[in-house]
Amino acid sequence: MNSVLREFVMKHALFSHHDHHCSFADFEKNRAEYTHKALLGYAAADLVTAAGPRPLAYAHDDARLEALWPSIRTTGYGRAVVLGCEELFRLEYTPANFAPITEALQASIADKTPAEVYDYFVKEKANIQWVAQDGLFRISNAEPLQTDQYPDYYQFAFRIDDLFAISGPEPLNALERFTGIPVLSLDRLVVSLNAAIDRFRDTGRMNAFKVGIAYLRDLTVTDPPRHEAEQAFSRIRNRKAFYGGNQQNNAAVNQHEARALSDYMLHRLLERADDENIPLQIHTGYLAGNWGSLAGTKASFLIPLFEKYRRVRFDVFHGSWPWTSELGAIAKNYPNVYPDLCWAWTMNPEETERTLCEWLDGVPFNKIFAFGADTGLPWCDVGYATQARRGIARVLEEKVRKGFFSESTAEEVASAIMLKNGEQFYGIT
Ligand SMILES: [Zn+2]
Repeated sequence: MNSVLREFVMKHALFSHHDHHCSFADFEKNRAEYTHKALLGYAAADLVTAAGPRPLAYAHDDARLEALWPSIRTTGYGRAVVLGCEELFRLEYTPANFAPITEALQASIADKTPAEVYDYFVKEKANIQWVAQDGLFRISNAEPLQTDQYPDYYQFAFRIDDLFAISGPEPLNALERFTGIPVLSLDRLVVSLNAAIDRFRDTGRMNAFKVGIAYLRDLTVTDPPRHEAEQAFSRIRNRKAFYGGNQQNNAAVNQHEARALSDYMLHRLLERADDENIPLQIHTGYLAGNWGSLAGTKASFLIPLFEKYRRVRFDVFHGSWPWTSELGAIAKNYPNVYPDLCWAWTMNPEETERTLCEWLDGVPFNKIFAFGADTGLPWCDVGYATQARRGIARVLEEKVRKGFFSESTAEEVASAIMLKNGEQFYGIT
């Protein structure tokens, strides 16, 4: 099918609500190493799934890829690799072509500075206008404020997950080192967190807070009284007391106490978001990789936060897949919730089409964010963007076919969910 609407969507610029691109320096460091395997992106996890619980030993990585690729080329992860490779190099991603693919990839980055490489793949080939980057603004990085390591159309989310999944003194020590403020009390910890945020905010490039704690703990967040958080704080400050004594007995108590401190600090972050109207991006749903615990990752666990922080704008990631319908209902109900399909097209393109179709029936379209590539290397954005555009086009064609949308309404919706909603949300004009 080659409708005018499809053409419009396929050519429309995107806002990538979430990416983990490596810095220019890291790109340069690994430049010679990029081969056909650097196109795999998320598909590496499907190789693990396909190999089963007792994987065979292969002589080398390529033998493993050759053996398992046929089984994963049909998934969303696999198809994105095929799409990207076809679009960039006019080559089918198949073992017979691995050598020419490596050659073509190397040729496409030869004689280009890292900035030119990013412009070529992200701006020109994937037609992404803005990137919300997760990875630079972390106090654990050696150079956390080096914004010149990315193109100027990147903005950065501040992330400090280990403070909200605390189990020892390291997050406190790290804040101390970063801000120079001794963390002597719970109050000083809050001061220190805010001082760290000030430094990122003052760059003028911080677009949001990112919370990725679903990888470290479940998303049920309590609202602990101050004294419980204080108790945990003093135990953690004195590591000996925290871990001393009968370890088995302490373990249960400490876990509970530690959670009180984690949740207390998360509320302080939300207060800061509320005070300064800083958006909060949060991971919900499926976890990248394999063997992740999905039990505590539903967006619905966050309802107490949506209820309490009514002025905070929540960019809720990944459609909460596979609980996408649930997120649609949440986004319909809570004016502060913006459902986001970043990465979802890649995890499951068909379900994401159904999701977008449903959300458009339930949620005003100015609230929906359609895309984020969520990947480390710039060329992977190309396949992920094509995969998303094709899905968006099919959903909108269907709305027109059923008589729900006129062609011009469908185009208006496409522009909003692909680009304009993100620009408005993050204050880019
Ligand atoms: Zn991510």
